[in-house]
Amino acid sequence: MTLKPKLYGLVGFPIKHSLSPHMHNAAFSALKINAKYKLFELQAEQLENFLDNLKKNNILGFNVTIPYKEKILPYLNIKSFGVREIGAANTVVVTRDGKLHGFNTDFLGFSRHLKVLKVKPRKAAIIGAGGAARAVCFALGKSKVEEICIYDIDAYKSLGLVSQFKDIFNQIKFSAVARVEELNLQDKDLLVNASPVGMRPDDPCLVESRLIHKDLFVYDLIYNPAETKLIAQAKLAGAHYSNGLGMLLYQGILAFEHLTGKKAPVEIMMAALEKGVKKL
Ligand code: NAP
Repeated sequence: MTLKPKLYGLVGFPIKHSLSPHMHNAAFSALKINAKYKLFELQAEQLENFLDNLKKNNILGFNVTIPYKEKILPYLNIKSFGVREIGAANTVVVTRDGKLHGFNTDFLGFSRHLKVLKVKPRKAAIIGAGGAARAVCFALGKSKVEEICIYDIDAYKSLGLVSQFKDIFNQIKFSAVARVEELNLQDKDLLVNASPVGMRPDDPCLVESRLIHKDLFVYDLIYNPAETKLIAQAKLAGAHYSNGLGMLLYQGILAFEHLTGKKAPVEIMMAALEKGVKKL
């Protein structure tokens, strides 16, 4: 008798080009786990029905991406550290008694990658104040960062992010600015692009090359393309840099471990991601 595979997957919309199935399915094969990781591309009105039928469909857990990372919160019975503070969950484990346990592995993925890169920022600048920026802010807040300055095209969003975190991390000096130049990059050692600008070939580079210096670590959360215009400028300026593939990997590793209870095969998942990204 062959047992039906356990099901996991990614809930979001649109998600056709997601790399998550590549890394999770490669890990299942490597560890000989009888499971499949699928894409659950749902319209907003389908979310509740999906959640009601998890047990019936043998779904043991799932990742969550845009636009449901915030919308999933009211359905969670248990929220792990960071979920409430960030206001988003990206991993949900269905417990044995059918409860939904939410995690935010985005912030931990970012922290883990900075640690791997041996980047220990003191003064950080962030472009974009959406969901990813909130995870980055929380990760930086948990580290020894002293200052975080945020720019978003929408001033209400950057101000909102500052007011969300300034009481949680009252030792950090937060500020929201109205222009990239006001991020004061000459005084910063980390710049994070948490905006989607850079994904399209005709996107501008939001930061003028003269503002990038060699003591600035430039972290672009975008991983497709692997080299955005911002990363290309960082290279030219002799700065250290990274794209977002490492954050994607480490959030996936932590998610895999929550979902399966097993240690993730890091090298295998990285190789699967690199292979997947080449096909995009
Ligand atoms: P989001 O919630 O839409 O946030 C993006 C923010 O950037 C929004 O507030 C947006 O403002 C702002 N923005 C847009 N254009 C801008 C500009 N020209 N200057 C300054 N700010 C601008 O998206 P997200 O989920 O945070 O994702 C942001 C990026 O991070 C995406 O590229 C995503 O793929 C990437 N990401 C990577 C990982 C990873 O693991 N590597 C994880 C999560 C996200 P408006 O809403 O007003 O446009």
